[in-house]
Amino acid sequence: MKDVAIIGLGCAGYTAAIYTARYKLDTVIIGDVEGGMGMSAAEVGNWPGEIDIKGPDLMQKYKDHALSFDNVDLVSGRVENVGKVGKVGEGFSLTMQNGDVIEAKAVIFATGSNKRHLGIPGEEEFSGKGVTYCATCDAFFYRDKTVAVLGGGDSAVEGAAIAAQVAKKVYLVHRRDEFRAEPFWIDKVNEKDNIEFVLHTNALEVLGEQKVTGLKIDTPHNGSDVLDVDGVFIEVGSIPAVDLPQQLGCELDDRGHLKVDDAMRTNIKGAFAAGDVSSGSNHFAQFSTAAGEGSIAANSVFSYLQGGE
Ligand code: NAP
Repeated sequence: MKDVAIIGLGCAGYTAAIYTARYKLDTVIIGDVEGGMGMSAAEVGNWPGEIDIKGPDLMQKYKDHALSFDNVDLVSGRVENVGKVGKVGEGFSLTMQNGDVIEAKAVIFATGSNKRHLGIPGEEEFSGKGVTYCATCDAFFYRDKTVAVLGGGDSAVEGAAIAAQVAKKVYLVHRRDEFRAEPFWIDKVNEKDNIEFVLHTNALEVLGEQKVTGLKIDTPHNGSDVLDVDGVFIEVGSIPAVDLPQQLGCELDDRGHLKVDDAMRTNIKGAFAAGDVSSGSNHFAQFSTAAGEGSIAANSVFSYLQGGE
């Protein structure tokens, strides 16, 4: 039996692994999506010590660091089920999609979140045919094209700024007239001549034939209720990935995040959480907060395995 299983290959998971390794815990880190949400950050300008680094490069550094320890194993694959082993506090059993079973005395859920879908007609039909949920990852396929980015948070506003580097035109479609994104990114979109704001507007339908040709909106823009676009980047936030911890009976908060105390403990003895999936850090989903939560969770696992709570 491992000392600790960490589920999730994002910033929180890798940071937790670096700490559990240094606490000399026999650690396994498991996941099927390499790098998590960090992979979609085109330019990271708020990770201390790096003035500007690409998300995938930063994720590779975390991974290399975590795997530099002999007592950290990486298992690539999807965990399908989590259950308790024996009596309360004796450990957990993780069943992988391929049927393998991994047992650990403690578990850290660093499962992150999944992009929210809008649920409008055409969205699923054209998914991968012009509809995407990662503007920064896919913008470069839209060189000299016209795209719409939906949302008003960091993902949408950063996504619009990045897309505008290659696209002919970018519509930034938001349901309000204020953005919740960092002022840094708002300045970036304001500087771009090829970004047009479409505010107080909701998307109604993605239009197309073989691929996307337009976006139907609820408020006419320049006299039309259709934006002629080749791509629709939906960036309207994320939903915490709580399926696995819910199998154990972990409680959620009123926003659907895993409820944790300030030691990153869930309500289930031996189960901890870190990163975007957790209710910690005032729900502020950043590299720095994920790393902070990952390190606290690892410290709490260390205390727990020494007989603490
Ligand atoms: P977010 O901050 O939750 O913003 C989601 C946006 O989508 C909001 O503007 C929201 O509108 C809009 N929205 C939500 N549901 C909608 C719906 N059904 N229809 C239309 N619009 C809808 O999500 P995010 O931008 O993905 O960011 C998530 C977290 O990651 C944040 O903590 C963010 O700071 C972090 N992040 C940081 C960076 C960075 O560079 N620092 C980059 C990416 C993400 P309202 O504003 O009206 O609610």
